[in-house]
Amino acid sequence: MNCELPPPRLIDRFGRLHNNLRISVTDRCNIRCFYCMPADNIEFMPKAHLLTFEEIERIVRVSTTLGIDRVRLTGGEPLVRRDLHELVRLLAAVPGIRDIGLTTNGILLEEQAPLLKDAGLQRLNVSLDALDPEIFKAVTRRDGFERVLAGIEAARRCGFSPIKLNAVSVRGLTEDQIVPFGHLARETATVVRFIEFMPLDADGQWQRDKVLFAHEIIAILESEFGPLLPVARKTSEPLAGDLLPVIGGISTQAPAQDYEFADGRGRIGLIASVSQPFCASCNRFRLTADGKFRNCLFSHEETDVKTTIRSGGTDETIAQLMLDCIAAKNEGHEINTANFVQPDRPMHSIGG
Ligand code: SAM
Ligand code: SF4
Repeated sequence: MNCELPPPRLIDRFGRLHNNLRISVTDRCNIRCFYCMPADNIEFMPKAHLLTFEEIERIVRVSTTLGIDRVRLTGGEPLVRRDLHELVRLLAAVPGIRDIGLTTNGILLEEQAPLLKDAGLQRLNVSLDALDPEIFKAVTRRDGFERVLAGIEAARRCGFSPIKLNAVSVRGLTEDQIVPFGHLARETATVVRFIEFMPLDADGQWQRDKVLFAHEIIAILESEFGPLLPVARKTSEPLAGDLLPVIGGISTQAPAQDYEFADGRGRIGLIASVSQPFCASCNRFRLTADGKFRNCLFSHEETDVKTTIRSGGTDETIAQLMLDCIAAKNEGHEINTANFVQPDRPMHSIGG
């Protein structure tokens, strides 16, 4: 009889298996989206507090022994971190990492897209909430719309495909951007995903009545383009040879619900984090730029891994910190309950 124990995995109390690590590389940003950052007077993390690329690579190596096989770089704005492509190159060489993605505002993408592609970046999400430059500026409190468009174009030329656009939808601000995004999705090979505004802003402006809900976005699109047909949810961005959907029957549904236009032209996605939380199938684990593990965007506790690393901790200790952090994960985010308390850190400091 073979008595060998299976290797430990990042499975929480609710049976959710975590294979997806979101890594924030900075809390800095070159724009100031109102739902994510304060307008000014921001105290950024001192540079010495940021994990180095080598420290991040070590954590990723350890995480693969617990089943992490895909990572996404985020921030703040990841492309403001100097030589980010060098981190991509390091992570692409980690055995067990099958997928590397990046979420960016696109402002610095034109210069960096070729370097990132060459370093091994596989997936690219660009955040763009408006196709109207004035509304872009109202959201971001900065110029840069044209640079984002140039960045998307440069990424396309380098062969990133598909490029996904993330658009946060806010009542009273972005309603009239939804139809133009629908046209974009239908006329180009762009996948547009609308995201409900979540309570992670720095200025405490979030209110439920500012959330433009997924069903309202669908209604706006249907009134222009006709019926939208839900696409059967697949596992989250499956990879060749992906075993996750069958492990213990655990679902790894992607957060986006995709829809096709009835005439077969184009596809859009809805990330209904507020109105239809996908916590039950969450497979995400997080590392902040200053070296804290977080088991949820909305958690109030963090696990300090940086101190362990900088005081000579072993790989086994790092792995145990990850396992302990996952063991403490709550069932869901509670935005829709009276118990909800917004985390102290706003989105740019956690890593979206
Ligand atoms: N700077 C990069 C960017 O904007 O793509 C990466 C970091 S950003 C925090 C990651 C994603 O979180 C973006 O798509 C952004 O639109 C989204 N986001 C930020 N704050 C949000 C909020 N309060 N509600 C919903 N999405 C939010
Ligand atoms: Fe910067 Fe991204 Fe936050 Fe906008 S959403 S302020 S681009 S980190």
